[in-house]
Amino acid sequence: MCRGCGGHHGKDDSHHPPIPPDAVVFAQSTEEVAFVVRTCARHATPVIPFGAGTSIEGHVQALHGGICIDMSGMNRVLAVRPDDLDATLEAGMTRMQLDRELRDRGLFFPVDPGADATLGGMAATGPSGSTTVRYGTMRDNVVSLTAVLGQRRSGADRWAGAEVLGRVTAP
Ligand SMILES: Cc1cc2nc3c(=O)[nH]c(=O)nc-3n(C[C@H](O)[C@H](O)[C@H](O)COP(=O)(O)OP(=O)(O)OC[C@H]3O[C@@H](n4cnc5c(N)ncnc54)[C@H](O)[C@@H]3O)c2cc1C
Repeated sequence: MCRGCGGHHGKDDSHHPPIPPDAVVFAQSTEEVAFVVRTCARHATPVIPFGAGTSIEGHVQALHGGICIDMSGMNRVLAVRPDDLDATLEAGMTRMQLDRELRDRGLFFPVDPGADATLGGMAATGPSGSTTVRYGTMRDNVVSLTAVLGQRRSGADRWAGAEVLGRVTAP
């Protein structure tokens, strides 16, 4: 349960006070994310994906309680295709982790919002940054992603990105 976690999962880098979820699930796979999202959808329970918690507008506050899905355990590289300049990555990988993985191949991930954000959190918030004029925003660099959808309830889906296919770049 998160009540004893000091509010970490209900707090981002903003000045907003922590509002913790009722529980935190540390996901290890897309299947686990899907199980949690679909179970919560059945019980009309809010789901709050948690990347690195670097957002600055209170995004991860659990305003109505619910289950936080911490994505930090899903931080693996699934494939890098240097010839195509793209890579398939789990959504909990941070951009700096990715750059360390790519460094020896002479490649880097070009979206830099300043914070060491996760690819899933960046896909959700669509950041720009110091390199955007040359390489584009997150939207320009995501080719496709795996989204986990709950049941449709009153037109609103509860979802979480689990894998991201992103463009990588040679300097
Ligand atoms: C010092 C600093 C400088 C910054 N500068 C810029 C800037 O120049 N330009 C800019 O655009 N932004 C900037 N940002 C904001 C930055 O873009 C966000 O902090 C970042 O994108 C959030 O990523 P995160 O992994 O920390 O996500 P979190 O903060 O954990 O989550 C952010 C939102 O995404 C959702 N989410 C997280 N992971 C997933 C997932 N796998 N699937 C679905 N939803 C998910 C969360 O539920 C939440 O709503 C800055 C932030 C900081 C702290």
